[in-house]
Amino acid sequence: MNAHGDFLIIGSGVAGLRAALALADAGTVTILTKAEPTESNTGYAQGGIAAALGPDDSTDLHLQDTVAAGDGLCDPDAVRVLVEDGVRGVRELLEWGAAFAREADGRPSLAREGAHSVRRVLHAHDATGREIGRVLWERVVRDRRIRVLDDARASSLLVERGACRGAAYVDRAGVIREIEAGATLLATGGAGQVYRETTNPAVATGDGVAMAFLAGARVADLEFVQFHPTVLSVEGAPRFLLTEALRGEGARLINRDHEAFMARYETAGDLASRDRVARAMVREAERTGSPVYLSLAHLDAAFVRSRFPTIAQVCGEAGLDLAADPIPVSPAAHYMMGGVATDLDGRTSVRGLFAAGEVACTGVHGANRLASNSLLEGLVFGVRAAHAMTRPAQTAVWAETAEVVPIAPPEGPAPSSAAVRDLMWRQAGLVRDRVGLAGAVQQLQAWVAVSLRPDGGLPVPTGDREAASLAIVGWLIARAALRREESRGAHFRTDRPERDDIHWRRHVADVRAD
Ligand SMILES: Cc1cc2nc3c(=O)[nH]c(=O)nc-3n(C[C@H](O)[C@H](O)[C@H](O)COP(=O)(O)OP(=O)(O)OC[C@H]3O[C@@H](n4cnc5c(N)ncnc54)[C@H](O)[C@@H]3O)c2cc1C
Repeated sequence: MNAHGDFLIIGSGVAGLRAALALADAGTVTILTKAEPTESNTGYAQGGIAAALGPDDSTDLHLQDTVAAGDGLCDPDAVRVLVEDGVRGVRELLEWGAAFAREADGRPSLAREGAHSVRRVLHAHDATGREIGRVLWERVVRDRRIRVLDDARASSLLVERGACRGAAYVDRAGVIREIEAGATLLATGGAGQVYRETTNPAVATGDGVAMAFLAGARVADLEFVQFHPTVLSVEGAPRFLLTEALRGEGARLINRDHEAFMARYETAGDLASRDRVARAMVREAERTGSPVYLSLAHLDAAFVRSRFPTIAQVCGEAGLDLAADPIPVSPAAHYMMGGVATDLDGRTSVRGLFAAGEVACTGVHGANRLASNSLLEGLVFGVRAAHAMTRPAQTAVWAETAEVVPIAPPEGPAPSSAAVRDLMWRQAGLVRDRVGLAGAVQQLQAWVAVSLRPDGGLPVPTGDREAASLAIVGWLIARAALRREESRGAHFRTDRPERDDIHWRRHVADVRAD
């Protein structure tokens, strides 16, 4: 039987949960979430959440740092909203009982992270996302107006006469159901699983971007994928993130001769932006023919273990002492700057469809995200989208045109998730070029065509459930990366190593052909 509700939210990370709380006064809210409600990128976030609360800080300074990291492509209006609404959002979390680390005088303790000019990152040691998720989740479960369906994977958006009227999903028994709603919010998070090496959990397969694109929504900036430089790189151990806050507290990248090498590549040294650190690590590893390491051996061991308890434990399980041993690290796909294009209130180009959090492209991150701005984005734009969802008739419009993309006729075998992830890692990853990207686009386009149902929708997810979503998102990333003939932010092409403002200080956007 089909269900009806006023508001449908797909995803239970920071964006979805915060939006649900903001919507509950306006009508019935249903949250669909594809695994356990706590399984999300939010739950894994370590370092913290940025907000201009320190005595030497201001929203103007936070804006400046964010825009500088975005390498010429941030939307300053969106960043203004992020940093100003963000202060309110974080204060509210504190009022709601978020157990962030405190100084002796009770003020929140602020950490420094890469490309932030001052200490501005609130944190719950190295498990900040889990704490934010806990605070929001406890309020959601107490609110009887919000219904949560877990193990419920949205498989397509229902679109009629150009308006979204809900979603189809597969319940835990494998039954396909539909849920109709006056307004639908995509809060499905990121797409790290598109790559073989990633910090993201298994749920981060880019379903929101794939569903929105198939439903006719505009997607933008997908070439900008952030690769986190420091991921634990031990054979057989999970690719566990080693937060940037480690370097903020003094950890250094060293080579096999124990030489701290970052200053040779970047004036900001170990605290340069993520893409720069990641590429310097790759160059150093190539130069020395050996892995690179993160070293905290020169810091106070007791401080290291108490400041980073989860990381110390995971390193311990891999046979390494975080406070004493060189920790082998390498880059992995971490964060998607682009996504479903929205205005400042989460509206997409499809009536009744909204997006917030990592799935959305609001313009706050431009070509590269400043560390600890993404939990903040979910918090801020989750609320703004919720308010706009009570007036679902409007859509967003853009001055720049999008490329209209046809889907090729089906031909050849369907892909596996592993094949997509491997191709993306090799040919559309941290270091790209025209030849690799063109080959990836051709292959992914063929895979997309055979993955879709005859009516052009996503297949019912059975067997290799995620392959179709991964192929669509991978295809859109590779297409955008091939089109952008320059290097900027997180997008680096060896055949176009310079930034080219004359031709490329603009966004790359796609929309599906009817
Ligand atoms: C290891 C790690 C560390 C990080 N550290 C930080 C940090 O310190 N600071 C910071 O600001 N950011 C950090 N980030 C990024 C940040 O965590 C995310 O960008 C942010 O939490 C995204 O929130 P969200 O609500 O948009 O999505 P998510 O938290 O990813 O939630 C998405 C939700 O959608 C659900 N979903 C997905 N597809 C479907 C579907 N088809 N049907 C139903 N449900 C679906 C998922 O199950 C999940 O519940 C980190 C990310 C990772 C992976």
